Amino acid sequence: MAEYEIVCTVQTGCTAGGHILAVCRGGADHPMRVAEIYQSMDGGDRYFTDAGGLKAYVRKWACPCGEGTLRSMADATLRNNLDSLPLCG
Ligand SMILES: [Zn+2]
Repeated sequence: MAEYEIVCTVQTGCTAGGHILAVCRGGADHPMRVAEIYQSMDGGDRYFTDAGGLKAYVRKWACPCGEGTLRSMADATLRNNLDSLPLCG
């Protein structure tokens, strides 16, 4: 089990904000797809974003379009801290 910081995201434009397709972990050199993150979470790993020292954990979330994706938990200050991260690439 481990905790990983998410530092940037790959998103699709299915909704106004889009949903997360993949994320980069701090120190990683390639994005991990949501399915890989789900597997990792199932193994007990936790993921978070850190916006100016404010840590927000990320959980599984089903986008209204039907895709499984990721979202910041309710304690996030913004609507979705993941959306505040830079895009990959
Ligand atoms: Zn979607």
